Amino acid sequence: MSQVAFPPGVFTWPADEPQLIGSRCAACGAVTFPIKPSCPRCGRPDMEERLLPRRGTLVAWTTQSFLPKEPYASGETDQTFVPYGVGLVQLGDVVRVEARLTESDPGKLTFGMDLELAVVPFRVEDDGTEVLIFAFAPSLPEDIEPSA
Ligand SMILES: [Zn+2]
Repeated sequence: MSQVAFPPGVFTWPADEPQLIGSRCAACGAVTFPIKPSCPRCGRPDMEERLLPRRGTLVAWTTQSFLPKEPYASGETDQTFVPYGVGLVQLGDVVRVEARLTESDPGKLTFGMDLELAVVPFRVEDDGTEVLIFAFAPSLPEDIEPSA
């Protein structure tokens, strides 16, 4: 079965460890997601592609409980729609991104919890192509040593 990343060019795929594709200003170091043609901080058009950290922490969240009016066809209808979490995720000290969460139950989300980028099936096209989107999933912190 063929797979396609949606939207295209937003995350690395195929990849064992996918990363979001952002941009970094060569002049002032500001990082954006998604890629912007010019810097939102200093206005210069010196943006270069930059892969973002795969791990982050949850800063704010909500639950999308009705079908969003997105500027693209999601293939969902009010009948097929399933609520999902949306979070503001701090990626290292680099950038904050707003993203879908794999967890939709607000009771299972906590401020500062560790998240990891995941690529998840979204829908299947009529020709069998699987459409994949990115989301952030709760993860265990890396490099945690048992306390003595
Ligand atoms: Zn800049």
